[in-house]
Parts: sequence; structure tokens; C-alpha cells
Amino acid sequence: MVQGDLPKYGLLIDNHCEEAVGGAWLESINPYTAQPWALIPRGDERDVARATAAAKQAFNGTWRSMPASGRAALLRRLADLVEQHAELLAELETRDNGKLISETRAQLRYIPQWFHFYAGLADKINGKVIPIDKPGVFNYTLHEPLGVIAVIPAWNSPLMLAVWKLAPALAAGNTIVWKPSEHASVSSLEFCKLFAQAGFPPGVVNIVTGYGNEAGEPLVTHPDVAMVAFTGGDQTGQRVYELAAKGIKRVTLELGGKSANIVFADAPLDDAVNGVIAGIFAASGQTCIAGSRALVQRSIHDEFVRRLVDIASPARMGDPASPTTQIAPITTQAQHRKILDHIDFARTEGATIRLGGMPGRRAECGAGWFVEPTILTDVTPQMRIAREEVFGPVLSILPFDTDAQAIQLANDSPYGLAAGVWTQNFGRALLAATELQAGTVWVNTYRASSYMAPFGGYKRSGIGREGGTDAVYEFLQTKSIWFDTAGKTPNPFVMR
Ligand code: NAD
Repeated sequence: MVQGDLPKYGLLIDNHCEEAVGGAWLESINPYTAQPWALIPRGDERDVARATAAAKQAFNGTWRSMPASGRAALLRRLADLVEQHAELLAELETRDNGKLISETRAQLRYIPQWFHFYAGLADKINGKVIPIDKPGVFNYTLHEPLGVIAVIPAWNSPLMLAVWKLAPALAAGNTIVWKPSEHASVSSLEFCKLFAQAGFPPGVVNIVTGYGNEAGEPLVTHPDVAMVAFTGGDQTGQRVYELAAKGIKRVTLELGGKSANIVFADAPLDDAVNGVIAGIFAASGQTCIAGSRALVQRSIHDEFVRRLVDIASPARMGDPASPTTQIAPITTQAQHRKILDHIDFARTEGATIRLGGMPGRRAECGAGWFVEPTILTDVTPQMRIAREEVFGPVLSILPFDTDAQAIQLANDSPYGLAAGVWTQNFGRALLAATELQAGTVWVNTYRASSYMAPFGGYKRSGIGREGGTDAVYEFLQTKSIWFDTAGKTPNPFVMR
């Protein structure tokens, strides 16, 4: 198909659908067909400047003057619209990033809850009256919005990752410039239209698409952007953090992981097998919380590996738009290559491939960028495959003997996003949950999440928390206000 025949999705600035100032377009590629299927604007610093000016104007005008209950009402209306458009948005996202339709549908059905939850919080952001220990003064606090927030998510769950930021940031009274990933922007461009339909004033939410260096960096460094809410790889996160530091801007960084799923010999084995498989093969391993290291107690190691291979080997690869498919393609060709390189390197370092290890070869895979579910044994903690994030369906299995060794192995990582513990011993689970250096610990489950619970990383996995009541305070700053009540100005040379 030539470019001209592809559907075009525009930017949204000030509630208007527009092309990029430069007039250039990027092809969005369907990972299942490996063919371009839509065009998105190739925005740059000129589009970022327009979007930021619109967001700044809205922040200082209509949005700031609206009462919190008004913001809440809009967020609820938006939630209802998302519910009505969930099927279309799920289909677009599946075509755009190759994620299973069963997963995008489930995410879209759940996304309205984020808006309802933060709508509920919007008018409960109270300051405090502080009982100051000095006479003649009165002090109280206000939680105020920061201003324009840059929302920059990754491609693996474009809408869900954006909504985790949009809902609390808007409830707190900020305005938004959103820059989705260049690899999967279409569902976000379609979603953004709903803000105007819900009645959000122009400029409150704007969206600019384009490459990270052409549109992302100008957004992070724009002087009128107060904060960057980012999800992506740790290298990009570090770059964003450095750029934001120059402007003394606040950041939240949701970065990568190398999460350990620890299976003790006393674990409920059938559940543990399913949990380990869900941790690594769901979303074809393209999740930040992928449990890419299974730490398995040596006494059950061989039996556990056998059961894993038995369950994972018949997993159905194929069209992600089919509800019965279990393994979807990899979103980008570059990521596909990177995963296969990781597997090859692990082999040269001495790992044994117990399952998969190849690009998808079945007829159902068509021209898509598939990688077979891959299970590696004989992996040592020093190997690259045990240390670096692969972001694909590749499970490394490492044996351990004692509880202390399991915790030491799990924590031996620059990352600290999540961990799983499988045991029937309550004391062992409690100790592990305390000792593990991870922002989320699951016991006898994996991949559970909710708008009500905080989520975020330790160590190189990030800064700040999304979800739960705490998240709204990431988007607020506290003002301390003093009144004199004594009616006289004391000695000006002494601190009051
Ligand atoms: P990425 O870091 O390549 O890109 C993330 C976003 O940053 C994209 O929108 C990209 O356009 C933008 N970007 C790139 N360079 C930029 C720059 N210099 N300045 C500003 N913006 C820039 O990540 P990805 O490949 O899209 O996603 C995969 C990564 O995301 C994995 O490491 C994964 O673990 C991580 N992730 C983390 C979480 C979490 O919540 N912790 C969730 C999902 C994905």
C-alpha cells in the first residue's frame, strides 16, 4: 500500500485535530503483518511549543478557575465515554502494537475505573491546619497543581500506561502534553478525541506524536513544562532524568525490570507453574513486570522445568486479533532482533535451550515478528541473560538451595520492579516479602494490579508511584501559609 492510501490520525492541540507543522508523517506498522497500516504526524519542537502554549493557557485560565468538583464531573464523563469506545480502542491498539485482543479488551474495560477513582479524589485534596508551637501565628497548607505535565509512556500498553498518569494529574488540577511512543500512537490519538467530547476545555489535554529525540526531548526541556511523568527503558529514563534536572523539574520514572519469581519446594506446584508462565509469556514478555528470572529450589528444579515446558510448548501463536491466540508478535522489528540476539548470546555463554529459542515458524505466524516462548536452564547469575532486561518471551531458570540464597539471588539485580514468591509457608512468604528489594511483591500470584494499589520501582526500576491515593500527590506541591495573629511585628533581627 502506498502512503497516500493509509488512514491518517492527527495531533490534538487545543481540542483541534491538526497535522504536524512540518507536514511530515510516520508509518505505524502492524506487527502481525509487518506492514504499515496508518499514518501519524511526525511532530517536532514546533508542535511541542504549540501544545505547551495551549496547556499553559488552559492551566492559567479555564482549568484553574474550575472547582475540583467540576474536574471530577468531567473525569466521570470521560470514564463513561471510554467505556462506550472500549471495543474500538482495543481493536486499534491490537492492530498498532500487536498485543492480544483479549488483553487490550480487558485493559480498556478496566481503564474507566482509573478515572472514576481519581474523580473521587479530586475534591478531597485537603490541606491541613498545623498546630504551630509558637504563639501569635497561624499556619495552614494547600496542595497545589504543578502546571503543565509531560506524559511520555512506552509502547507495550500505550493507553493503560498513559491513563495511570493522566487520571491523577488531571484530578490534581494540572494540564497535559502527551507524547505517546512513535511505535504505537494510534489508540492514543483516537482516545484523545474523547476529552473534547467529555467537555474538557481546550488546551487541558494535548497530544503530539513523533520520535523521542524530535518531540520527546523538546517536551522534557520546554521551560513551561513543570514535570515529566515517564514510562520506558532505564537508559531513556536516565536521559529524561538528566534533561529534567537541568530545569529542576519533578519526574516520575517507571522503568524496566528483571523480576524474580521464586518457587520454593513447598509451593503449590500447579499454581506456581501457571504463575511463572503468566509472568513471562503473557504479552509475549513485553511487560515491565515480566518475571524473567525463575528461581527454583533445587529439589524440585527438574520436575518444575518439565512441567513448565509441557504447559508452554503448545501455547497458540498467531493473529493477536483472534481471542484464542495466546502468544502475540513482538511490537517492533528492532525489538524482535534484540530478543533473538539475547537468546543467541545466552547460548554462547553456556545456557541450555529447553524450549523455543527461534523466531515463530508456524504458518499462523505469517509475516509477523514472533519469538517462540523460550525457556533456558544452566543460567548463572553473571550471564547477560540473567542481568539485562530482554523484554520478550524468554525465561531464565536459576536453581537455589536455601531461603537466604533465594533472596540474595533475587536482589542481585540493578532493577527492583517486582517479585513473586510461591510457598505454602506463611512465615517464609512474610520474610521474603520484607527482604525483597522490589516495589511490588506477589505471594502465590503474579501480575495482579489495580488502580487502588501503588505501583513503582526500587533501584533502577524507577522513581515515584502510580496508582492508589498516593499517586495524586506526585502531581501536587505543598504551600505553607503563615498569618500573624498577634497584631504586632516582633524584633526584625530574630527569626520568629
Ligand atoms: P523507550 O524508553 O524507548 O521509550 C519510551 C518513551 O520515551 C517513548 O514514548 C519514546 O518516544 C520516548 N523517548 C525516547 N527517547 C526520548 C528522549 N530522549 N526524550 C524524551 N522522550 C524520549 O521505551 P520503550 O521501548 O517504548 O518501552 C519499553 C521499556 O518500557 C521497557 O524497558 C519496559 O520495562 C519499560 N516499561 C516500564 C513500565 C513500568 O511501569 N515500570 C511499564 C511498561 C514498560
